Amino acid sequence: EKKFRIAVIPGDGIGKEVVREGLRVLDHLANESNGQFSFESDFFPWGCEYYLENGKMMDEDGVEKLKDYDAIYFGAVGFPGVPDHVSLWGLRLAICQGLDQWANIRPVEFLPGVPRRLNHPDVETLNWILVRENSEGEYSGVGGRNFSGRGNGNEVAVQSALFTEQGCERIIRYAFDLARTRKRKKVTSVTKSNAQQYGMVLWDEVFARVSKEYPDVETDQQLVDAMAAQFVLHPEELEVVVASNLFADILSDLGSALAGSLGIAASANLNPEGCTPSMFESVHGSAPDIAGEGIANPIGTIGSAALMLDHLGLKEEAKLLNKAIEETTRKGFLTRDIGGTHNTVEITDAIIENLSMVKEEV
Ligand code: NAD
Ligand code: MN
Repeated sequence: EKKFRIAVIPGDGIGKEVVREGLRVLDHLANESNGQFSFESDFFPWGCEYYLENGKMMDEDGVEKLKDYDAIYFGAVGFPGVPDHVSLWGLRLAICQGLDQWANIRPVEFLPGVPRRLNHPDVETLNWILVRENSEGEYSGVGGRNFSGRGNGNEVAVQSALFTEQGCERIIRYAFDLARTRKRKKVTSVTKSNAQQYGMVLWDEVFARVSKEYPDVETDQQLVDAMAAQFVLHPEELEVVVASNLFADILSDLGSALAGSLGIAASANLNPEGCTPSMFESVHGSAPDIAGEGIANPIGTIGSAALMLDHLGLKEEAKLLNKAIEETTRKGFLTRDIGGTHNTVEITDAIIENLSMVKEEV
């Protein structure tokens, strides 16, 4: 029997509600595996409530503690009462950067039965993967505020984006390697190198250099503003999209909304070298506006569990889970954000039921 040790960090708001559902699905899969694999989940109560009690978002040695695990399953952080920059930097960014999870992979796909906001005559399926640089760029944390000017209307703040050649190269190379495994074999690189003449131009140069090693992969380069338009106007042009930390963050919300909702988007924060555990989380945040109502869409987080299964080598289970999700939406089991009336638990129940069904079909 293979036993996988999972660190579970539900976090805040709907993070808790959807992670609970994801774990139900994982437990079900383990129970059905006839002893082939199991999950040992340890819970970490880190988040905004923890901060209000302890003055910190996580333990000082939290990142060290997480190194003992095979994977991390994460909900979302952020809740009114704690500034968003405190909660984000204190937990999610601390983990991603502390464990050098430098590649954030965010697939954008249509789900059957989910009303899409993207209506394009040539596009029946979407198979995009956004590859987000996840260790530096605009989220480098480099900057400062001029406190002497504070309060008199003259404050100055600097927020610097930091790009290293190695940081650019590893994420761009990752995107090319990924494109090679896909149907179309195309990488689109997104920058703003007309306005940002240092970091983004370095990125472009690295992209040009690395692309020479992949003559079999088609390339395109776009400015981020044009890219936002292309998402809507020429979705058929896209396959693997590689972008900096901030730009890919913004574009992934747009992508998931085009596919139907933020609630269906999954993601993986990977340390591709496998030196440290990778972290799996939905793209959305803690959604304080609907937290506690039991109506959050769990598909993004359950889809992230599928990415985790795949990462752990449980490829067949990952495929089955994705199929079960598709079967669930195809049958009209939809939460409110995608036009339905089902609640969080009902969607998960349906996914679990459909797992048995799709398993029999195989
Ligand atoms: P959000 O993603 O939490 O919510 C945006 C909108 O989408 C809301 O209307 C929300 O109800 C809806 N939504 C999101 N997920 C949904 C789901 N699963 N089902 C149904 N509807 C869903 O983004 P926000 O409102 O900008 O941020 C809220 C908090 O989350 C902030 O504190 C922010 O800092 C934090 N945040 C955290 C992460 C993270 O932990 N990775 C990511 C983004 C935002
Ligand atoms: Mn985001």
